[in-house]
Amino acid sequence: MQARDLDGMVVSFDRNFRYLTGFTGDAGVLLVTADDAALITDSRYIETAQQEAEGARAVLLKHAEEIGEQILSLGGKRWGFEAERLLYSGYERLQALGVELVPTYDLIEELRAVKDTDELSAIRHACEIAVQGLEELFLRLRPGMTEAEASFWLDGRMRELGAEGPAFDFIVASGPRGSLPHGGTSQKPLADGELVTFDVGCRFLGYHSDITRTVAIGRPPAELQRVYEIVREAQEAGLRAVRAGVLGRDVDAAARGVIERAGYGERFGHGTGHGVGLEIHELPRLGERSEQVLAAGMIVTVEPGIYLPSQGGVRIEDTVVVTDGGCEILTRSPKELRTFGLSGSGNLQGGGLL
Ligand code: ZN
Ligand code: ZN
Repeated sequence: MQARDLDGMVVSFDRNFRYLTGFTGDAGVLLVTADDAALITDSRYIETAQQEAEGARAVLLKHAEEIGEQILSLGGKRWGFEAERLLYSGYERLQALGVELVPTYDLIEELRAVKDTDELSAIRHACEIAVQGLEELFLRLRPGMTEAEASFWLDGRMRELGAEGPAFDFIVASGPRGSLPHGGTSQKPLADGELVTFDVGCRFLGYHSDITRTVAIGRPPAELQRVYEIVREAQEAGLRAVRAGVLGRDVDAAARGVIERAGYGERFGHGTGHGVGLEIHELPRLGERSEQVLAAGMIVTVEPGIYLPSQGGVRIEDTVVVTDGGCEILTRSPKELRTFGLSGSGNLQGGGLL
């Protein structure tokens, strides 16, 4: 705030005021000045705010106008706001106060990118739950099970293992649907000879995990097996590029280069990774144009993929913590192409290597 010459800051995004105060409610506004901080919330959350918020006094809101009254009573001419978070209607209400409004971008998000020990241990645990649940699910896969059934079982299992809930709507994309990078989950049954991409994760103490594995049901077509090995090599190259001091785009280039040299550059449309924390997607970005510098303690994903329309797709993703010398993988699970639930056997056959 000092660097931006701000007298005050209006923090309206829930993940940002949670990060700054510890308040876990999702409705509120945090007003910060050089020597005061007021966390304004309504009667549904006021007791939670009083119990949880550190470094900010909890203020009960009865009418929306009281936010403006609090801003005026705190004083100060230049007030920052979160340009990418505040609704236009909220901006209009601030404008009516007659103070100078200064848009800020990623002011708090940049602080959130580097995790402290407590945050790291929450994410580490969320990753452990996700890996265990996913590995248990793999042993249950069989032709005929629908994507939705697989997703539902995994959601329940992760909660049994202590997760607060899923990190996002799981992606279970089987067979031709594997070419949809964010294909969601459908009622399609898994079938012999398909690849299935599982992109899943959970929340623990508000922090997310994110892992993708692509596995086979039976024996998939030869081209998809080749594509799998290319993506695996690209993901390893991406992981090797992660270390404090490199740019986000350096990691992207390492993974993308493998896929481009194999002739599938056009089939890898998204960025290589993203930060993970109180949001499933946060800073830093690991895309082709990302100038963000990785620092020790950041949590990022590395998740290249190749998507062949109407044929299928492969993505492999790990959540890792950036260190000075490289990275530590938090979602440890095998990455060789594994096949499960072979058709015709009627048995659950786990973990055979193709
Ligand atoms: Zn993911
Ligand atoms: Zn991801």
